Amino acid sequence: MRLVDVHIHLDFPEYKKDIDNLIKVQEENNVKAIIANGVNSKSNREVLKLQEKFKVVKPALGLYPTDVHNMSFEEIDEEIDFIRKAKPIALGEVGLDNKYLDEGKTAIQKKKQLYAFEKFISLSEKTKLPLIIHSRKAELEIHDLLESSKLKNPVLHCFMGKKKLMQKLSDKGYNFSILPIINKSQQLQEIVNYTNLRQLLTETDGPYMSPVQGKVSEPRYVEFAIKKIAELKKITVEEASNIVFMNYQSTFKNQ
Ligand SMILES: [Zn+2]
Repeated sequence: MRLVDVHIHLDFPEYKKDIDNLIKVQEENNVKAIIANGVNSKSNREVLKLQEKFKVVKPALGLYPTDVHNMSFEEIDEEIDFIRKAKPIALGEVGLDNKYLDEGKTAIQKKKQLYAFEKFISLSEKTKLPLIIHSRKAELEIHDLLESSKLKNPVLHCFMGKKKLMQKLSDKGYNFSILPIINKSQQLQEIVNYTNLRQLLTETDGPYMSPVQGKVSEPRYVEFAIKKIAELKKITVEEASNIVFMNYQSTFKNQ
C-alpha cells in the first residue's frame, strides 16, 4: 500500500513537539508522500525547512484567503514572487473564503482575496504547478474563475459545496482530495460516487478534521479515505491506494 496526504499543515504548533517521531510513524505506515501546505509568509518558510529535513515531505506554498486580509497588495505581490522562486510542487493553500470576513471590512477583504487568488491562477497557468484550493462559501466564484482559466489540474480540497456545482467541477476533470472523515460525510461520499477514480486524491487537512476522536490528525489516517473509496468504487484497498498514488504522481509532476 502507498499512501499520500496532499494537504496538511505540518508547520502548525500541534506537530512541533515530536515531529521526528511523527514522520517516522507515518513512514512505518506506508505513507510515501506528505504535501505540507503553507498559509502565509512565516508558514511558507517553515514548510521549506520541513522539506529540507524530511524526504517524504513535499512543499506546497500559498496564501490562505483570510491570511491576506492583513497584508498590503504589495506584500501579496512580494510573497507570490517568493513562492515562484522557491519552486514548490504545488500552489497551496490558496482560494476564497466568504465565511470569515470581518464586519465593516468585507469589501476590502474580498478584494484582497480575489487579487491573491487570481495571481495564483495565472502563476499556475504559467508554471503548470497545480493549485490546492480552499473554497468556503465561495464555491460558485471558484467554479467561474476556474472555468475562465486554462487550468486542467487544480485540486479542490475539502469541497463542501452544492451537489450540482461539485458535478460541474467533476465533469471538468478537476481533482478532489478526500478526507478521512468521509465515513461521516455524505458530501464526500457523493464526490467519490460521482467522480472518476482518476480524479481522486487523499488528504487530512491536519491538524484539523481528525477521524480519530481526541487525536490530532496524521497523514496515515488517509487510509480511512482509501478504504471508503475502495468500498464505494467496488475495488480492493490495494487497488484504491495504487490508483490514488498514481493520481498524485501525475498531478504533482515536480516532486
Ligand atoms: Zn488547509
